[in-house]
Amino acid sequence: MSARDVIANLRELADLTSTPNGAQRLAWGPVWREARHWFNGKLAVLGITPEIDAAGNSWATLRGASDRTVIIGSHLDSVPNGGWLDGALGVMAGYEALRMFNHQRPPLTIKVVDWADEEGARFGRSLLGSSAAAGALRIGEVEHLVDKDGTRLVDALRENGVELARMHESQAFLKAIDAAAYLELHIEQGPVLEAMNRPTGVVLGTFGVERHVLRFTGQAAHSGSTPIPMRRDAFLAAAESALAFRDIANRHTTPDARVVCTVGTVKVEPGIVTAVPGACEISLDQRALDAPVLASMLNDAREAASRAARNNNVSVEWRQVWRIEPRPFDPRLIELCAEAVREVTGEAPHLPSGPLHDAAEMVPHMPAVMMFAYSSNGLSHCKEEDTPEPYLEKSITAFLRLVEKTVHES
Ligand SMILES: [Zn+2]
Repeated sequence: MSARDVIANLRELADLTSTPNGAQRLAWGPVWREARHWFNGKLAVLGITPEIDAAGNSWATLRGASDRTVIIGSHLDSVPNGGWLDGALGVMAGYEALRMFNHQRPPLTIKVVDWADEEGARFGRSLLGSSAAAGALRIGEVEHLVDKDGTRLVDALRENGVELARMHESQAFLKAIDAAAYLELHIEQGPVLEAMNRPTGVVLGTFGVERHVLRFTGQAAHSGSTPIPMRRDAFLAAAESALAFRDIANRHTTPDARVVCTVGTVKVEPGIVTAVPGACEISLDQRALDAPVLASMLNDAREAASRAARNNNVSVEWRQVWRIEPRPFDPRLIELCAEAVREVTGEAPHLPSGPLHDAAEMVPHMPAVMMFAYSSNGLSHCKEEDTPEPYLEKSITAFLRLVEKTVHES
């Protein structure tokens, strides 16, 4: 097995599908199709013709002695002006696993899946292909989607031989697989491994998310004539809340469990320099890997916002925007992954994933785990995205070792 070959393939794909601004493999478009066509050519060298399921996911199979299957997945699609490793790294590492076992019959069957439209960059729905296969996609939520040029999702899919109304049939395809494990190698897309100066990390799972909008309502008034104790300043209540939310996140962070929270938007009304803010809306996005911790963070945030509202004589209303349960990975695969990382790099840091990944959709269906590769400057979804080559080599080598271990021990 050779990490160098994987890197050479990644460079070849980047040359074929990037401009000076970065990767351009936008899902369902011509460059993405070209990337898949190129990948099919690589598979043909191994004598493998991939199957496409009803959601457009592409599955390459190497039959083993048993039908028990190790699935290796990621995605060839990218955001516009994206990086060369996001998604492609996992697919090309999967290809190397197929190559590694191609001349010997592996004890288990190996499938490499290139999930369709992981990024959601064109139509706004991430994990489209994997959520369809996992049974988590509701057609009603996506049938109206249109890209910025006015192309409907349903038409973009049809152009690629996928019928939106039949995407759920991909569930049967996934269910028919006797899956022993799902493995995914991905670039971290954040600064944690870099801060530790470790090439590779074991991913514990993907964060659960609680996303809400809070609206504080007070009374707009003239800023010159209203004494401060008599004001009902909605912005100050929001600001007090935001500071309290940060404290809540700090309080729930332990040495082995990091949580995050962000107030990312703020809207003040009437938004005039000479008016006391009568209303203020902020967003709150809380994330944690542990469901009870996430629930308790939300509870604390509700109390803190009520307290801030009382302090400022305003009211507060909550509106839930989105939520997803934490998706912790399989403990045995986490251990196997840690072994592989330790063998190659000496030390196996464990970290949660802030972003969602296709692996999260597999968690309810089979044991799953991910491995992260170091992100230079924590950057991703941009042309600067990179992993220094020696670290990239180590990450790929550790991942292929994880594949070997899983194939032999599952
Ligand atoms: Zn990705």
